[in-house]
Amino acid sequence: MHAMPKPAIALVGGGLVGALLATLLARRGFAVEVFERRPDPHQAGYLGGRSINLALAERGLHGLRLAGLTDEVMRLAVMMRGRMVHHRDGHSELLRYGRDDSEVIWSISRGRLNIALIDAAESAGARFHFSRRLETALFGQGVKLRFRDDLDGSAHEHTAAFVLGADGAGSALRTAMQLERPLGERIEELGHGYKELEIPALPDFPAATLPTAAAEKLARGEAFAIERNALHIWPRGAYMCIALPNAEGSFTVTLFLPSQGDPSFATVDGPAAARALFERDFADLVPLIPELETDFATNPVGVLATLYLDRWHLDGRAMLLGDAAHAIVPFHGQGMNCGFEDAVELAELLDEHHDDLEWTFAEFERRRRPNAEAIAAMALENYVEMRDSVADAGFLLRRELGRV
Ligand code: FAD
Repeated sequence: MHAMPKPAIALVGGGLVGALLATLLARRGFAVEVFERRPDPHQAGYLGGRSINLALAERGLHGLRLAGLTDEVMRLAVMMRGRMVHHRDGHSELLRYGRDDSEVIWSISRGRLNIALIDAAESAGARFHFSRRLETALFGQGVKLRFRDDLDGSAHEHTAAFVLGADGAGSALRTAMQLERPLGERIEELGHGYKELEIPALPDFPAATLPTAAAEKLARGEAFAIERNALHIWPRGAYMCIALPNAEGSFTVTLFLPSQGDPSFATVDGPAAARALFERDFADLVPLIPELETDFATNPVGVLATLYLDRWHLDGRAMLLGDAAHAIVPFHGQGMNCGFEDAVELAELLDEHHDDLEWTFAEFERRRRPNAEAIAAMALENYVEMRDSVADAGFLLRRELGRV
């Protein structure tokens, strides 16, 4: 008896999770067509909408290993040994994640990681269709997908037996699925937002603004203005800043503030108010962010929310994964890591059970939902703990590593 031939797969979204899934499926011999809203990053550069860098942990690395990408990713990543906590009085302390450098997490550029994943998927045989924004999906016997090219306005169609959706928190596939059958969607906003700012690499600092300690480092040929191998936190009770290193020496700083109250993005509503907040609460950061006012005026306030769904799939015709199924707040640095675990699980299940998609999708949801729900709850708790930094540090750090 012959095994059933592997079906062709239509995948919407070529972001982090979509591109990893495409690689894993193509390596298993599936014909994979990926439809991605953005233009080809090889030509257009990476047009990212969200966080510039991400914390990659062991859970996520596992998927990258299976895709044969660890060497490439390790070349792009900066090791973070622990949390560097910056107190109000200016002193700082490193709380290590583990006893030695075998227990660390990694900071990686979203854009570079996404491009590495797209390259891996294409080498494995997946076909990418860029500038294809899903507008609608019509579910009959199969699925008819309609796309728009935002560059030239043209419309495109693709018909598939079934479709996988890795098109992120605002998933258009999820919207289309819900027109067919409600998925029990609930979106709970956190009531806090975020804004990104930059500590430049030392060679890029305007010379006149370089603090003495940083000038000494530059003279020694160093590129990082603060400790390179750490995830930096400035906890301030109801709010905080964090900073993650980038490979070329800069740091991406993220300010998390409530949406209402004082201070909040309602009161800290412009460059002058931002400077006043930083001079009062993050004084040691002020000389490190020479473009504070410009960064604040230019970069948008990001919204933070948790997405809950009662169902992730539409029988055997459509399945959601990654942020499209379970977007979470970023305080555990685990959204992408969790999405990579989804990709690994779904690729394995499809490989073994593509002859019964309805069962496969239900089984995928059964296996992954408890994990997604657990990390969603832990990410919400961790925000309070990071802002306060009062709880038992060792416990929190082991949790950040995914060990408890
Ligand atoms: P996305 O990365 O959103 O990718 C979706 C893709 O689908 C994109 O390429 C998009 O262009 C495409 N798309 C969207 N709509 C359409 C459409 N209609 N048609 C076709 N294509 C479409 N996670 C971590 O693990 N570690 C961290 O440190 C971390 N930090 C974070 C910091 C912040 C501020 C935020 C907001 C999130 C953070 N996350 C982190 C979470 C992480 O960003 C997400 O979990 C991850 O990006 C999810 O990947 P995804 O591929 O499911 O979705």
